[in-house]
Amino acid sequence: MQTRSGSVYPKPDTEYYSPPSRKRRIVAVDFFDGLPDDLVLSVLSKISSSAHAPSDVVSITMTCKRMNELGTNPMVLSKASVRSMAVRAKKWSDSADRFLKRCADAGSLEAAYTLGMIKFYCLDSRSAGAALMARAAMGSHAAALYSLAIVQFNGSGGCKAHKDLRAGVALCARSAFLGHVDALRELGHCLQDGYGVRRNVAEGRRFLLQANARELAEAAPPATCQGQIHQQQQVRSDFGCDVPLAEPHPANRFMAEWFAAAARRKEVEAGGLRLCSLARCGRPETRRHEFRRCSVCGTVNYCSRACQALHWRLAHKSECVPMEQWADAAAAVAAANADLAVADGGNVND
Ligand SMILES: [Zn+2]
Ligand SMILES: [Zn+2]
Repeated sequence: MQTRSGSVYPKPDTEYYSPPSRKRRIVAVDFFDGLPDDLVLSVLSKISSSAHAPSDVVSITMTCKRMNELGTNPMVLSKASVRSMAVRAKKWSDSADRFLKRCADAGSLEAAYTLGMIKFYCLDSRSAGAALMARAAMGSHAAALYSLAIVQFNGSGGCKAHKDLRAGVALCARSAFLGHVDALRELGHCLQDGYGVRRNVAEGRRFLLQANARELAEAAPPATCQGQIHQQQQVRSDFGCDVPLAEPHPANRFMAEWFAAAARRKEVEAGGLRLCSLARCGRPETRRHEFRRCSVCGTVNYCSRACQALHWRLAHKSECVPMEQWADAAAAVAAANADLAVADGGNVND
């Protein structure tokens, strides 16, 4: 006889057969319920700090009610990894906003910085964004210190009079002290140019060398996926070798993706604003003519000296053509067109 559980009873003619008098009750014991909260929180914190994508954390909280409660505990959220907060621009939603806010409130500097950048540059919430970035900067978050330095250098979110070069240099120096490559490069150029600080060419050169050495040390290993090596952006180092660039910060990647959408790009251009020409930076202007232009060709714009220096080595060195040459070329084309017109006119008259 076939039972619901798939087992077969012995045949009725067997001597010792006796039909089951009642259903056997199977009591399932869930050992997970017996685990103390502290232990589960400790395991979840470890998973959260090593997550490779936001979905790694979200999928855990969706398994059961207890996991949902413990997975959103401040102890777990405060340890969330950089990659677990790498929200993509096309997936931005109120729940993503709430998740980053909860992480930031739980004490995650990374979440405060990422949400601050998104609010400041993408959602036009300047004061809320700046406050979040400041919270991360006060916790010695190097990227937040550098971003606030750019805000001070450019007077972002305000007018030209809001530029504070000395504050920018001070923030940049703090970020450079923590080893931020772009801050080291920015500080080097500020010292060489005497921008916001007393000019000191030798000291500036020293910072630029440090930035290059650190860039070399942080060179990303080739990214692999299913055994295949992907092409990575490489830059020629001042030491004469090609260095694979490290991945941009998720906040920069978010901004680049956000403004890559045709509708948003049109909105920015309609306001007469421009994006930083270094695509991996993603920062937009917050007012017209905020960014510096290449003084040679005038066709590219940068939020900072560091972006300009990196883009020069990546691409612009081979693209930059002096404006006079553009003018000469335009004059030559105009003259050629005029000659053609005269020649055509002569033919018609003949
Ligand atoms: Zn930039
Ligand atoms: Zn140029």
